[in-house]
Amino acid sequence: MDLFRPELEALAAYHTPQVPGADKLNENEWPEDLPDGFKQKLAHLLTVQIPGNRYPPSAPDSLRNRIAEYCGVNPEMVSFGNGSDELIRSVIMATCLGNGGTVLTVEPTFSMYRILSQTLGVPCVVLERNEEDFSLDLDQIRRAVASAGVRVLFLANPNSPTGTLLDEEVLLALLALPVLVVLDEAYHEFSGYSAVPLLAKYPNLIVLRTFSKAFRLASFRVGYAIARPEAALTLEKVRLPYNLSALSQLAATLALEHKQELLAGIPALLDQRDRVARALADTGQFRLWPSATNFIYARPFSRSSEDVRLALAERGTLVRATGGGLRISAGTPTQNDRLLAHLRELFRLGSALAEV
Ligand SMILES: *Cc1c(COP(=O)(O)O)cnc(C)c1O
Repeated sequence: MDLFRPELEALAAYHTPQVPGADKLNENEWPEDLPDGFKQKLAHLLTVQIPGNRYPPSAPDSLRNRIAEYCGVNPEMVSFGNGSDELIRSVIMATCLGNGGTVLTVEPTFSMYRILSQTLGVPCVVLERNEEDFSLDLDQIRRAVASAGVRVLFLANPNSPTGTLLDEEVLLALLALPVLVVLDEAYHEFSGYSAVPLLAKYPNLIVLRTFSKAFRLASFRVGYAIARPEAALTLEKVRLPYNLSALSQLAATLALEHKQELLAGIPALLDQRDRVARALADTGQFRLWPSATNFIYARPFSRSSEDVRLALAERGTLVRATGGGLRISAGTPTQNDRLLAHLRELFRLGSALAEV
């Protein structure tokens, strides 16, 4: 008896490697934990403010107000996800589920756009970015939109894994298409760019953000969408009633209260990113792209990315091999030192072996 949709059989459950003690440069998290004082305050608020037996507020209005203030929009333009991953799924449900609509995305990019379409049984057209600079082919996108019943286009901006930003001119051309354009700004705090001001002109835009990266709250699972009020209300309708735990709401609210302290470390982290990028370029072994994020994307010239990933993992540094390259998060200075030492060792070994 087939109890489940047969197409799910071909999919694998999503897992990331858990290697205790390893340097985790594979998920673009902030490399250090929240400050002690922040966690103590959060624990205190949990104790005195949150009745564990009660459901959390189903409409997290104090968090909504703070996010609205942070983004410079009205509170009715905000919706929430248990991580922005959940909002990606909500957008697909709200646009394509049950009506034959198609998702469009352009790889290499964040894999969840495709994976969540597949798990919902929604068709997903996957185009490819230009190999040289990871730019988009507008004509190809226009053709796909015209022919494939596309209702929503997902783009990460800056993109993961490539770290690259879209030209605003290209973005405006995309917003002129008759589809919903979802810009995933998970790395906004690093890039400094946001499409939020374009919402005034384009009702077919949704901006997704997360507390998982620059705000260091990956463990608490809080994402949000900024959209025109009608669109935000639609996302609120498909949102599960208590998708954000009381602790998650509290953590995100507190993070915005402490945003100056939390975000103050960004320039130093980006300096670390640039140091690693320069060191990689100096080996002459990698092709690199400019990064507007907290990670770098590098393609080894002479070895497969997967080989390099494995060799680094054996030495205690986790990076991601994806899209034919390595995505390496900026870590602490010590983690980056170890990464570079491993790479030097690895590529010396590599050239010594080549000479044999
Ligand atoms: C990390 C990341 C997310 C995931 O965010 P969560 O809020 O933790 O679900 C979404 N999009 C992109 C492009 C990311 O890199």
